[in-house]
Amino acid sequence: MAKKRNSGIHAFRANEWLINDYARQIRSLSREIIKIAAIGDFGDLTDAEMLVRSALISAALDRYSEAIGPWAESVASKMFRAVAIRNDKEWREVSKSIGRQISTGFDNPVIDATIRETILKNTSLIKNIPRESGERISRIVRAGLNDGKRADTIARELMATEGFAKNRANLIARTEISKATTEITRVRAVEYGSPGYIWRTSKDGAVRDSHAKMEGVFVEWDKPQALDGMTGHAGEFPNCRCYPEVVVSAYANESRQVASIPEEGLWQKMRLNLQKDRAMLQKSRFILKLLRKPESRTRLAQCLPHQPRVALLGECVG
Ligand SMILES: [Zn+2]
Repeated sequence: MAKKRNSGIHAFRANEWLINDYARQIRSLSREIIKIAAIGDFGDLTDAEMLVRSALISAALDRYSEAIGPWAESVASKMFRAVAIRNDKEWREVSKSIGRQISTGFDNPVIDATIRETILKNTSLIKNIPRESGERISRIVRAGLNDGKRADTIARELMATEGFAKNRANLIARTEISKATTEITRVRAVEYGSPGYIWRTSKDGAVRDSHAKMEGVFVEWDKPQALDGMTGHAGEFPNCRCYPEVVVSAYANESRQVASIPEEGLWQKMRLNLQKDRAMLQKSRFILKLLRKPESRTRLAQCLPHQPRVALLGECVG
């Protein structure tokens, strides 16, 4: 019945404040990039000088890319821990509103791994901005000289390097925070037994057509959508502002019907086992899958009293 619809659907949206804060921090690189490149002087150079100069700038920006590694890692690390903390808080609220315990906290090895992977990836994305800016400068100079452009024309094109670096920063911030938000949400939702989510867009003129068509569509968690040659869930595409409205009520109701399963105890044991041994993760995913189908749930329920350990449970049922 749909009488308590609101308690069964929960929006998990990337936080705008975090996106802006992250973008601002990464954008600060553009100032230093412009300083290193000293583009203002380009207009007075001969062709040969411009070539040499752009090669030197590229090399200097490459070195800068390497130098900012630890800074980039610390910025990304703080940011994605904040994203995870926020997501955790939101799940606690969901848990409260539906009156059913959902595992939260940071002992979840999948979420932990996701965050660590995201931090690594973002460190390298941030580090690449100076390098990409250098490549862009070399490219513009080479192409400009090939086309017989005047030095001051080339210099004007080079001035856009600052904007280029800022755009890269903005793109990384929005895309990566949104992606991580959806990914962490998905892990918790699947673990909880959520069948999927309703795709929501930001419902304004900037939503691309392919995403606008997804507005209001129910998507299963194991069926990421193929849009514009890319595959992902709501919020997982470049510059995407879409987000999932997670459906949690269906499973919550179903699970009450199979109340004979000693569920809380099982989950706690699974959790402890997972912490001890990551190899068991695969098997617990299998169990979670089983829990979704009524017929396999019955088999699982028969096994449970005998095999409370996750790994052995997999063998018992499979
Ligand atoms: Zn979108």
